[in-house]
Amino acid sequence: ESSHQPFQFYTPALESRASRMLNQEQLLRQSIALGGFELHYQPQVRTDNGALAGFEALVRWRHPQRGLVSPEEFVALAEARGLITAIDRWVLRQACHEACAWLAQGMPRVPVSVNMSAQEFRHPDLAIDVAAVLAETGLPAQLLHIELTESTLMHSDAQVQRTLHALQQQGVQLAIDDFGTGYSSLAYLRRHPIHQLKIDRSFVTDLTDNEDDAAIVTAIVQMARSLRLGTVAEGVETPAQLALLRQLGCEMAQGYLIAPPMPAEQLLQWQQDYCHK
Ligand code: C2E
Ligand code: CA
Ligand code: CA
Ligand code: CA
Repeated sequence: ESSHQPFQFYTPALESRASRMLNQEQLLRQSIALGGFELHYQPQVRTDNGALAGFEALVRWRHPQRGLVSPEEFVALAEARGLITAIDRWVLRQACHEACAWLAQGMPRVPVSVNMSAQEFRHPDLAIDVAAVLAETGLPAQLLHIELTESTLMHSDAQVQRTLHALQQQGVQLAIDDFGTGYSSLAYLRRHPIHQLKIDRSFVTDLTDNEDDAAIVTAIVQMARSLRLGTVAEGVETPAQLALLRQLGCEMAQGYLIAPPMPAEQLLQWQQDYCHK
């Protein structure tokens, strides 16, 4: 029985897990140094007339053995090891650069959204660096949206507030990602120059058969309207969800129903097919 077992400070299983993590970290560092990432873009459309409204940039790691790896599998490690800033900065520059390129190729003038981790907002120079990237790539500030989480805003200090205001002054718009999953206090919405709420997929999935989810989405949309904030529903997968979101007054939708995230080279073709449907 277990009480007779000797203490094991480490087991082969633990050892291999630890070395796997270390290995992943080393590979991640290498990929950061060598540019081993790419961006996929997922369209956002208006629910009322279907018009294209923007694209969200989603990072993928080109893993030497595993192929393209989802951020679900490495963002947490990157945050824990202080590597997320380097990745997010690359994402910012690459997204601005690619957005400029597709504008030049005739894409409608819609914004590109990038995700920024809370760690990014601890850097006092973030707003200045964003301005520099916009100047360098030539992307108009109005076409850049930054997605941040409720926790970034909840734990914000004077520094974060200055950064958010400086970004807003430049014309960059700010969206709250995964809205509704973080905190019950909504007071932070008053303190920060936010433009848009992204309603988390967990409220959208069962929207059409769960009255509680429908009530939550209705409440978020109504609150957003009175605060003059835009709304985007995430993870829209069925026509019935889209129809209900439109009926509830949610402005925009994003999800597999419209399109999965795609490599930049496919966006123009997708947009042309979509507009001629
Ligand atoms: P997110 O910002 O909530 O992004 C939406 C995620 O949902 C994406 O997963 C997207 O592929 C997925 N998705 C989109 N439509 C649907 C749908 O209809 N159904 C379902 N089931 N899923 C859908 P992805 O690309 O794996 O990204 C996961 C998360 O990683 C993102 O969640 C975001 O929080 C984070 N992330 C992505 N790119 C970056 C980045 O550049 N920097 C940072 N810090 N985080 C990032
Ligand atoms: Ca996001
Ligand atoms: Ca989200
Ligand atoms: Ca999410």
